[in-house]
Amino acid sequence: MIVDCAVIGGGPAGLNAALVLGRSRRKTILFDDNKPRNAVTSESHGFITRDGIHPEELKRVAQEELSRYPDVRIEKQRVHLINKENNLFEVETENGEVYRARKIILATGFKEVLPDIPQVKEFYGKSLFSCPFCDGWELRDRPLAVIADDHKAFHMAKLVSNWTNDLIIFTNGSKVLSYEEQELLKSKGIRINEKKIATFIGEEGMLEKIQFEDGTTVLRKGGFISAEWKQAASFECSLEYTFNEQGGIATDSWQRTNTEGVYACGDTRMAGPSQLIMAAGEGSMAAMAVNAALIEEKFNQEKRHA
Ligand SMILES: Cc1cc2nc3c(=O)[nH]c(=O)nc-3n(C[C@H](O)[C@H](O)[C@H](O)COP(=O)(O)OP(=O)(O)OC[C@H]3O[C@@H](n4cnc5c(N)ncnc54)[C@H](O)[C@@H]3O)c2cc1C
Repeated sequence: MIVDCAVIGGGPAGLNAALVLGRSRRKTILFDDNKPRNAVTSESHGFITRDGIHPEELKRVAQEELSRYPDVRIEKQRVHLINKENNLFEVETENGEVYRARKIILATGFKEVLPDIPQVKEFYGKSLFSCPFCDGWELRDRPLAVIADDHKAFHMAKLVSNWTNDLIIFTNGSKVLSYEEQELLKSKGIRINEKKIATFIGEEGMLEKIQFEDGTTVLRKGGFISAEWKQAASFECSLEYTFNEQGGIATDSWQRTNTEGVYACGDTRMAGPSQLIMAAGEGSMAAMAVNAALIEEKFNQEKRHA
């Protein structure tokens, strides 16, 4: 069977792409191995009509909506290989099944690499987060931490000060703030702690204290961590799309990569703020671009045969 489009990744980006393709009567297959990066958290915020929804519930409702469209099929499998053969894409799953598609939408997301601090994973997604626009409101007015030992430190401290007046920036043993930056932060009441962090203390992921290698502790009730990003998927792949400076898949505003027929949307582009609603919007745009390309191909073919 040859489908119009194979969507790889079933987070909000891929799900919304599949919805728009299904509504456009495009034969679509969506592959998802259900390992989204927000699996660590229990509430998603900032998506109008869905504010506070559990990430799994968002996905359940989306899949239910897709089931109304007979041209959309969901395969709960990981894709591990994509090749282009004579204008068709061959998509092979981990189970060895091979599917053929006229277009590909990559919506595979990214993974964060958290700083190497013991116990950090126990707190990430519960009281430590990476995006203040997602979780700042829930942590408002608490004694908060910004934990950043990289170039994002100054920017993050300024940003998070929007949600609390009791903020300390922890650089975890690094000297990442210039003298001018330190003075500016202090003038706004933001304290700076450059000690090396030993561990986090708290119950069931809710931060109480940060402990340092010298044995001292500081009380904090939550905060934001600067994380690195990496692609969630790596395919054996003959496609030669390029990456942007952040390591995301580069696209134009129609979500087209520089490999004809391949589109990318959502976190996998690593191009700015990472949010459910933005990922879903990009998925919608990618689906419209796929649809437009298929229509053009059909009409050009008919012109040639006339
Ligand atoms: C702790 C935390 C809290 C967050 N809170 C919020 C919030 O409150 N509000 C908000 O808007 N955003 C929030 N986000 C960000 C949000 O989760 C992402 O922006 C969003 O999930 C991106 O959607 P996506 O579809 O691009 O990727 P994802 O949601 O990551 O989905 C990608 C999907 O592709 C699948 N996949 C990957 N590779 C393959 C493959 N080879 N084959 C098959 N399937 C594959 C994955 O398993 C996954 O299911 C949060 C993130 C984190 C980490």
